[in-house]
Parts: sequence; C-alpha cells; structure tokens
Amino acid sequence: MSVAPQKIPPAPRWDLDSIFPGGSGSKEFRTHREKTKTDLDTAATMLRDLPEQITLDSMLVWADFILKMQELDENIDLVRAFAGCLTSQNVDDDEAQAIEAKGDLYHSEWLKLRTELEARSLKQSDEQWAMLLAEPRLKEVAFYLNELRVIARSKMAPQLERLALDLAVSGYHAWNRLYDKMAGDIKVDFTREGKTERVSMGQLATKMADPDRAVRRHAFEKMTEGWETQANLASMALNALSGFRLALYEQRGWESPMHEALVIGRVKQETVDSMWSVIRRLTGRLEPFISAKMKLSGIDKFRWYDEFAPCGKTDTLYDFEEAGRFIVKQATAFSPHMAEFMKMALDKRWVEAEDRSGKRGGAFCTGMGTHKQSRVFMTYAGTFDNLLTLAHELGHAYHGWVLRDRPPFAAAYPMSLAETASIFTETLVVDAALEQATDSQQRLMLLEQKLQAAYVMFTDIHCRYLFEKNFYRERKEGVVPKERLCELMVDAQKRAFAGLLDESGHHPLFWCSKLHFYISDVPFYNFPYTFGFLFAGGVYDRARKEGSSFADKYRALLSDSGSMTTEDVAEKHLGVDLTKEDFWVDAAGRAVADVDEFVKLAESG
Ligand SMILES: [Zn+2]
Repeated sequence: MSVAPQKIPPAPRWDLDSIFPGGSGSKEFRTHREKTKTDLDTAATMLRDLPEQITLDSMLVWADFILKMQELDENIDLVRAFAGCLTSQNVDDDEAQAIEAKGDLYHSEWLKLRTELEARSLKQSDEQWAMLLAEPRLKEVAFYLNELRVIARSKMAPQLERLALDLAVSGYHAWNRLYDKMAGDIKVDFTREGKTERVSMGQLATKMADPDRAVRRHAFEKMTEGWETQANLASMALNALSGFRLALYEQRGWESPMHEALVIGRVKQETVDSMWSVIRRLTGRLEPFISAKMKLSGIDKFRWYDEFAPCGKTDTLYDFEEAGRFIVKQATAFSPHMAEFMKMALDKRWVEAEDRSGKRGGAFCTGMGTHKQSRVFMTYAGTFDNLLTLAHELGHAYHGWVLRDRPPFAAAYPMSLAETASIFTETLVVDAALEQATDSQQRLMLLEQKLQAAYVMFTDIHCRYLFEKNFYRERKEGVVPKERLCELMVDAQKRAFAGLLDESGHHPLFWCSKLHFYISDVPFYNFPYTFGFLFAGGVYDRARKEGSSFADKYRALLSDSGSMTTEDVAEKHLGVDLTKEDFWVDAAGRAVADVDEFVKLAESG
C-alpha cells in the first residue's frame, strides 16, 4: 500500500435520507413509528383473540399472529436502529434521543407479547406444534419457534415471568444503569507534562495505550484511585445485580449461572469448556511474544497497563478512499460477491466516517430492516487501526447482506457467531497488508496487531470468565465483600495470564472498572469474544486452504447463522465438532503462529 502524505482528505458522511429523509424531524420516519405503534396494538388484539389450541381450523390464525410478531420485530428494530444512527452522528440530537427511548418502549411491549406467546406454546402438544410449523409460511423460522418453546419450558408461570420482567426494570436493570451513571461521573486529576486536567475513566482508558510507559502507569494509578472511591458502591451494585439474577434463576430451576448466557449464545457448555481448556494449555506460547515486546519497549516487569503498549511504526495515514479500495481489493481475491457488496456499500455512502466533534465514540454496523440495507458508523482519522475498523464493520454489513432475504426470525444470529464475518474480513485485510509490507517496522506493527488480539482473548477475556464463574459460586452463599472480590479477581488473573503478567502487575479492581460485569441484559459477556475470535479464525483458515472455492460455502455458513446452533453451523459447514478440542487446538495454534516471526523481527530491529 502506498504511503499517503500526513494530511488526508476528510472521510465522507453517510446517507441516511434514502432511509427516512430529514433526520429526527422526518415525516416518513414519524409515519413509520405511528404504523409500528398501531401494529403493536393490532398484535395485542390478535393475541387476545388467539384460540387456545392449535387445530386445523386455528392454525392459520396462529401463523398470522406469528408473522405479525416477526414483522413488528423488524419494524421496531428499524425505529431503534435509525434513531441510534441519529444520536450517534449528533449526540445533542434530543429529539432522536426521545425517539430512541420510544423504540425501547416498543421493544419491551413486544417482549411481553413474546412472553405470552411462549406461554401459549407450552399448552400445545408436540403434534399440535409440529402441525403449526409445517405451515409453509413458518417453515423457514421453525428453528426460532422451537427455540422459543424450549426457552418457555425452562421459565416460570407466565404471570410470574411478567412480574419478573416488570420488577427488573426498576431493580435488576436499574443496578446496571446506576453503575453506568456512577462510572461516567468519576473524574480524577491527570497530569501530563506539568499540565493537570480533570478526566473521566473513559479518557484514562485511551491513555493506557500511550507509547510512553510513564503515561500508561500514571493513567492506571489514577484509574485505581478513581475506582477506590466508588468500590463500595460498585460492590453493592454487583452483588445486588447478581443476587437478583440468581434468585430468578433459582425460581426458574436453572442450576448453572451460565444457563442464560448459553441460551443467548446458542452454544453448549461442553463447547465453552473445550475452548478454555485448550486456551489454558496454549497461553504459555505467547511468552516469547511478551518477552520480545518487553525488550522492545524497555519494560522490566510486564504489568496490566502494558497490555496495550504499541509496537512498531504506526504513524502512516491512509486516506478513506484508499482504505476502501484496499479492502475491496482483498475481498475480490477471495469472493467477488463480497467485494461487489463492499464496493456498493462504500459507493452508496452506507458508512459514516468523518472525523468531527459532536459524534459518539466507537464503531458499529446496524441493519435497516425492510430497506435491506445496513449503515456503518465510525470515526475515520486515517490510522491503520481505523482501516481495520472499516474492514471489520464492512464484514458485519456483508453478513447482513447475505441474510437480507431470510425472514427476520431466521436472520437473528447469536453473539457467538456475530463476529464471524467481521473478524474474517479484518484478518483477510491484515494478512494482505502483511504480505505487501516490506518495511520491517510496518511488519512488526502488523504482527503485533494479530498477536495482541490473541493475547487479549487468551488472558484478559479468560480472566473475566474465571472471575465470574468463581464469583457466582460464592455469591450463591451470600454477599461477597469488596475485599473478597479483589482476591477473586487477582486469583483469576494469576490463572488466566499464566505467568505472563508480573506479580506486581495485577489489577485487583478490574471487577469495578470493566462495565461488562454490570450488563444485565447479557450475563457472562466474555466467552463470546474468545469464541468469536477463534471461530472466525477457523473459518478464515478454511478459506486460505480452499481459496476462492470456499466463497460460496462461506456465504452458506453466514446464511445459516441465524437458524442453527453454533455447533450445528460448525458441523454442517466446516465438518467439525465444537464440543471436542481438535477444532480449538487448531484455531488457538494458528492465533499464536506468528510468535516466532515477531520475535525475530523484534530482535533484528
Ligand atoms: Zn464487531
């Protein structure tokens, strides 16, 4: 890739007007919301009038109701997605924020209808249920409907579930909101080059990737200082949230605290166990990488705040158009279908990339419902990281594109498969850049990018999983005090980092600072990261081996991602058994395969 001069042209803004013209004041968007609200009422009436039993006579009415629910699901998603785009492009768009809240309300109304449908499904015999699913209009969403019925079986009576849902708004989810507010409010003094400023925890987090170790260390110390003042409250929030969860699980008869996470991930515990057991054995292989990185950066003892220390040259900037062309070119070599899509998405301005103030941070890709389009949000400033983010999000968009003709209930893929297409595309692009990079500093940076990802997945994410496992075990017996939470966290880090982190480098308050522990909607929001990373790696490896003949198989795999368990997707499209270790041994092995080259380059540089 050619090196662009340091000044690059501004990246483009997206086109939202072709979805609904006029932003948050859009007449068309308002009409869509009004129709959605009317449809919600219609669905509630349909449900009230729905015959108790599925019979030959009532079958069609049942199917109509289910299809109405599906249509609503898609339309509510569009309300939330479009409003989300508006608030992301302008954080001060109050009207859009109000619309977003309304969308959330629609969603919770919809969930109540679904809960009722779940309860109704239990009143049917297997024969009655099978008869319904044989209805041609429902065939393609049979997996979703069967899953719904299985989930219903493991829940409480409907009136209790309704009560739990209502109580959760001001209880369970409120702890999550309280935590977010508290975390957002913490400010500390941060001094750099004699200048002191008040900064948030989020701002400190970005400083932990500073090339200057003194800056990283200071940021870490300040973060610890900030969280120490709130650790008592964080501990209360964590204990209350998990206590609520465990009490509910007990009433539902769910023995493992992992139950819900596994259902959401459409994955088996055996699969997760196999994956971690392989990771435990292979984490040590990253030792030469960390040693080389330490030597390169003059680090004596590897500590928590060295995790994101950058290596290699990173000052080259790539203009947006060039980045887009590069990604499309790499996609072409693998799949013209994917390349054409990405080119179209860029040409039609589906990507919001401009680097300006007033935008939200982070990046995402979101579908646009019946429009059968997606939009990507990011801030593009020209770094290689930005280029990779663009590739990542375009990968998500391609996943959505492949699924665009599937009914929404057959297109909702689980978290464990959600990152397949994004990481796949990212890896494709990093490898292509590596193949073309002649400069050793650039190679070092690229290899570090790959190994760093493996390091985080193998250690940092693993420690979160181990911590939660052990925390829930103790929480069942009662409240776990702050000091014990710190102990559990350090224990988890000792095991997960397998000696890669110095004794003096642990992060006891990680249970405070990592917001994922407080997300009430998704428990155990950790293993899906490592799972997704390794699964995408396995798919990518197949593509390397089979070349462009794999492109159609890749499409078929993505197309099935919303209507099968992860184990079945892997079995059908890759011919592997995820519950066994073989797949994970290969995948984890490949993730650390570049260690030798990195070490060699680091020594010669
Ligand atoms: Zn992603």
